[in-house]
Amino acid sequence: MAERYDIIIVGTGFAGAFFLKRYLERAPANVRILVLERGGSDTKAWQLQHGRTSSIAPQEVYVSYPNDKEWFTSPGFGGNSKCWGGGGSRMMPGDFQLRSRYGVGEDWPISYDDLETHYGVVEEIMSIAGPADSPMQRSKPFPLRPHRFSDPDVLLKKRFPTGWYGTATARASAPTGQRGVCCATGACEFCPVDAKFTIENGLKEIFSDPRVTLQLHSEVETIETSAGLARTVNYLKNGVPAHDSADLIILAASGMFNPHILMRSNINHRLLGKRLTDKLTVDVFLDLRGVKCYNGSTLVSGLGYLFYEGEHRRDHAACLIETTNSPFVIVQGALRAERGRWTERMLLKFLFDDVPREDNYVTVNAANPRMAETRFVGYSDYAIRGADQVPRMIDKLAEALPIERVESIFRGSSNAHIEGTVVMGNDPATSIVDKHLVHHQVRNLLVLGSSAFVTASPSHPTITLSAMSLWAADALFAARA
Ligand SMILES: Cc1cc2nc3c(=O)[nH]c(=O)nc-3n(C[C@H](O)[C@H](O)[C@H](O)COP(=O)(O)OP(=O)(O)OC[C@H]3O[C@@H](n4cnc5c(N)ncnc54)[C@H](O)[C@@H]3O)c2cc1C
Repeated sequence: MAERYDIIIVGTGFAGAFFLKRYLERAPANVRILVLERGGSDTKAWQLQHGRTSSIAPQEVYVSYPNDKEWFTSPGFGGNSKCWGGGGSRMMPGDFQLRSRYGVGEDWPISYDDLETHYGVVEEIMSIAGPADSPMQRSKPFPLRPHRFSDPDVLLKKRFPTGWYGTATARASAPTGQRGVCCATGACEFCPVDAKFTIENGLKEIFSDPRVTLQLHSEVETIETSAGLARTVNYLKNGVPAHDSADLIILAASGMFNPHILMRSNINHRLLGKRLTDKLTVDVFLDLRGVKCYNGSTLVSGLGYLFYEGEHRRDHAACLIETTNSPFVIVQGALRAERGRWTERMLLKFLFDDVPREDNYVTVNAANPRMAETRFVGYSDYAIRGADQVPRMIDKLAEALPIERVESIFRGSSNAHIEGTVVMGNDPATSIVDKHLVHHQVRNLLVLGSSAFVTASPSHPTITLSAMSLWAADALFAARA
């Protein structure tokens, strides 16, 4: 039988869980919240036993064109927190103001300053490890001590003290009570020591709150609207049609499934599903003379901001560089063949931001409407011009590193950071949700997550989208006050 709730939240990943966490802190004792999750519980123990992070395979829920453009979604309780790597860098202030600072792309309707305190709360909840210094302004230190640099990171920090930093990560550097210390093997997808933050090890308790009903195996199909408001959520519960209604509906089903559900619900907009963005990545192997690599204490041990903010952003994409500290991440060619010199090879990942293209998009698969379909024709010229700078950037790094030879440079096909499909903005003609992630047309519908991203920063998306969920929850309370 259909029930009525105050709120229905769709999805138990970062976007839904951080919203729920904040909302419960201020919600009355009698509020009734239903959380619908398509997958099962797929606990850590289950994942380690079965060697995968979800009982639902990605090919059961989406199809991608071209098919080497993978997005690696992990349905089930906790969403992609099960499979994510735990990279936790904040976006830089300029990422929010690409147009006004550099004349490129568009500005976000929110700024770094709007999110700064929310970033701090997210970092506290995720027990982010990070250094004492920072390339961006921070009001609080990181909750966990920094991870150890690798030897090449030490050289880079010495030569570029304001350009090279310790990593910011949800892979613990000290025991947290719930989590062990990162084992630095690069097995982050399964994290055998449960060191990375997941919804299961960090926020599970909010789903047991007496005000919350969590319903697994509940795949949302559509949201019904009438008189401009969202009323009812239609879903399949263990494959059987069901529906419930609520005063407020929160979509937190990811950059792929937020637009998919909106399209199936005929809550349309010219830009819905379009502007699908990912960051462009370039992996570089550098052979070093006499410097041992892979001896930092976590997967990514250093972050390079030398080519991030600056006037070059007028012409080409900004770049964040990661020192990959595990040779097992990119297996082939990660070690040298020479005896005694195996680890004198450094792996660097260069991540570039991108400005959206409307011809990259998510849609409903025609053959099976329960599946999403992604079409990715390519990165923008802006991102590609950025990636073309890599040899010049390596020349600069050579001021710190004894580079014997550049072993290889290759572009990745996917970074799996799905962004931009339900874009935020102030103008309903050019955006779908407002700056508080409320749908412009359907005012009791929020669409959370990286689907709202206006441009794709070189930084990791998840800290930012989680901070935006806190920001959206705060705005709801402020509007009611
Ligand atoms: C392999 C991999 C590594 C990554 N590493 C990093 C990293 O190091 N740092 C970083 O910042 N980001 C990383 N990301 C990206 C990160 O995982 C996402 O940014 C983040 O998970 C998005 O959070 P979300 O809550 O919006 O979506 P998700 O985490 O995808 O959660 C969405 C939830 O909604 C549920 N759902 C979907 N459709 C429906 C439906 N129809 N009905 C009901 N429920 C539904 C899903 O099952 C899921 O539980 C990585 C991603 C991948 C794939």
